[in-house]
Amino acid sequence: MNDFPQVILKSGKDEAVKRFHPWIFSGAIKKIHGEPQDGDNVEVYSNREEFLGIGHYQDSSITVRVFSFEKIKPDFEFWKSKLQAAYEYRKKIGLIDNPETNVYRLAHAEGDGLPGLIIDYYNGTLVMQAHSVGMHLIREQLAGVLKEIYGERLQAIYYKSSETLPKSSKIEAVDGYLFGKQGLNEISEYGNKFLVDWEKGQKTGFFIDQRENRKLIEKYAKDKIVLNTFSYTGGFSIYALKAGATEVHSVDSSKKALDLTEKNIEINHIDPQKHKSFQLDAIDFLKDIDGKYDLIILDPPAFAKHQSAKYNALQGYKRINLEAIKQVKKGGFIFTFSCSQVIDKHLFFSTVVSAAILSGRKVKIIHQLSQPADHPVNAFHPEGEYLKGLVLFVE
Ligand code: SAH
Repeated sequence: MNDFPQVILKSGKDEAVKRFHPWIFSGAIKKIHGEPQDGDNVEVYSNREEFLGIGHYQDSSITVRVFSFEKIKPDFEFWKSKLQAAYEYRKKIGLIDNPETNVYRLAHAEGDGLPGLIIDYYNGTLVMQAHSVGMHLIREQLAGVLKEIYGERLQAIYYKSSETLPKSSKIEAVDGYLFGKQGLNEISEYGNKFLVDWEKGQKTGFFIDQRENRKLIEKYAKDKIVLNTFSYTGGFSIYALKAGATEVHSVDSSKKALDLTEKNIEINHIDPQKHKSFQLDAIDFLKDIDGKYDLIILDPPAFAKHQSAKYNALQGYKRINLEAIKQVKKGGFIFTFSCSQVIDKHLFFSTVVSAAILSGRKVKIIHQLSQPADHPVNAFHPEGEYLKGLVLFVE
């Protein structure tokens, strides 16, 4: 029914696709019938001419990202069924039309069978981000689908892919509104208010993936002096203060993030005397905090984005965890995270344990954390698990 170029796999290279793994690596390909361009639809076949799936082509190490393992026509109705399924799932986990929390991830790439596509919902505005040329090319069609799904509730769709398309593709995406127009916006997460600037902020504007971990801090923050490093717009700081922390210090290198933090303190009616922002390098800051803090949060950006950076990243995680464990007050807590995809949870766990050993202190691991349900991990694509966290109690 489709007349797409055909990608034929080498013998034996069809097994992972048959188990619904959505990536076809260049090394698995025997030949290609036709001349697909970046972003084109292609059909994938085994060496024995069995149909395996349809995906977006890209001339790179991941050559095809499969979005359907059935022979479908990738038209408006197909994408609508995909996004509708993602929406219905968010409804099942209680995130749609939730008066307390109006921010969530609607589409989590491979986790939702939508490789290359991220869509976040911010109180009436959707922020769409393409990581593949294929998704970039159908952005208008996807915007049309989203308008149908959300109807009146949707005020704007902001497209933000200028920094996320593969560098190897010659396409330059321009950020801007595909629908509506809106600037800064206030969102609510478990009743806590945040201003989100998706146009100029980092990623799609907010680190939605830390929602449940921020919620957990409420349990431990009362009457504590808290240090929130790599604090961005103050996510953990606001939760800690609202839960009764005595004082919170937020440390981030970004002035814009700290300016928004100050505004977030204000809109949550928190006494400004209880909070201080430091625009500093968090790694330097951690060198001299001896005995000052009862609770320390370490939530750095991904230290390793590629395998090649793994060794240095591990040293980085070890260093900051060692400083925190050495210096946190007796009977204190540490919330420590890594969002580097190439460092799996076992490796992160052993790195934190080795920092604990070096510190010479007694450490208990009291929670093992990960990403929330709106950032699902596709069971057939374990690479999708990226956020890891541990809560430590230091005797
Ligand atoms: N915990 C935050 C998200 C942190 S994202 C939340 O809940 O929203 C990582 C943050 O680290 C970003 O805000 C970035 O500006 C900051 N950052 C990156 N390198 C840094 C450094 N060396 N020192 C301090 N902050 C840094």
